[in-house]
Amino acid sequence: MSLDPYKTLGVDKKANQDTIKKAYRNLARKYHPDVNPGDKGAEEKFKELSMAYDILSDPAKKSEYDNLGKEAFFEKGFGGAGYQTGNFDFSDFRWDDLFADLFGGGSKPRSSRRKNSFAFGGDQVDFSSSFGDFGGRAVQKKGADVVRELNIPFLDAVNGQEMTLRLDLPQQCQQCGGQGLVSQGGGVGQCQACRGQGSVLAKQGIKLRIPPGVSDGQKIRLRGKGWPGQNGGAPGDLNFVIHVLPHEVFTRDGLNLLMEKDVSLYDALLGGSVKVPTPSGHATLKIPAMTQNGAKFRLKGQGITSGKKTGDLYVTVKVTLPTKLTEGARELVEKLAEMAPVS
Ligand SMILES: [Zn+2]
Repeated sequence: MSLDPYKTLGVDKKANQDTIKKAYRNLARKYHPDVNPGDKGAEEKFKELSMAYDILSDPAKKSEYDNLGKEAFFEKGFGGAGYQTGNFDFSDFRWDDLFADLFGGGSKPRSSRRKNSFAFGGDQVDFSSSFGDFGGRAVQKKGADVVRELNIPFLDAVNGQEMTLRLDLPQQCQQCGGQGLVSQGGGVGQCQACRGQGSVLAKQGIKLRIPPGVSDGQKIRLRGKGWPGQNGGAPGDLNFVIHVLPHEVFTRDGLNLLMEKDVSLYDALLGGSVKVPTPSGHATLKIPAMTQNGAKFRLKGQGITSGKKTGDLYVTVKVTLPTKLTEGARELVEKLAEMAPVS
């Protein structure tokens, strides 16, 4: 790659902006990847042209280059944005603004476009903060995050779960190969499929590990699975907001689980044992004699485990009465009432 933007564009140091732009436009048309599909040489040349134009079309960069000379200029890193030759990453540039300007690609003026937020299939992404200013310094920008709401069953939240989801997530646009540009009537225009962004939402399978003890409203972050960054910036993240569905038996209080258990009048009076569900199966709860309605029992360590902590399962007893009494049973209860009055 040539380090001399003047040489690359074939203009001399006294060339004005019109001449520079004209030279670039002619060469860029000739070497654009869409005009030369599969031609690596043309692609390299196109990158080189674009970098040269980026420097010479910006008065600040141009004068920096003129003053420092090429070695010092590139060593300095082209405004600290990782522009050193060799790692100039063409694919991360947003070409649409530049090409709208040069080729009249049908885009709105960039001043208004840059404030826009783009809707991708219901996913509202604000790009206004992530556009590098091509005319100025190429600033590395992290890609936008993607947020997805996810409902999970109560016991999956308690015990943890690995799941594979099929979701609309950002991926490189197939129509333009991520460049945001396509051939249009002999010229180059903005790719309609991605609106020049180079990325679109498309169905993808993604593995998600729900950690044990995840709570309602908690976020799970998958780094780097969001929208691509610009100018070599890191991609955004994919954030899941977890909604834990209610359970028919358990409710949650921190790491403790709460439940009610029906216990018959006779077990409550005489004592007995009842089977209760736990997050991992079942346990036997011993009911002592004379257990009152509403009494609460603790099953230690049968709650939620999160990290190194484990909660308990609290069982509240609900004493149930017989729904029918025979004549004989009724006489016995009357006798019982006399012998063991309730205060
Ligand atoms: Zn596209």
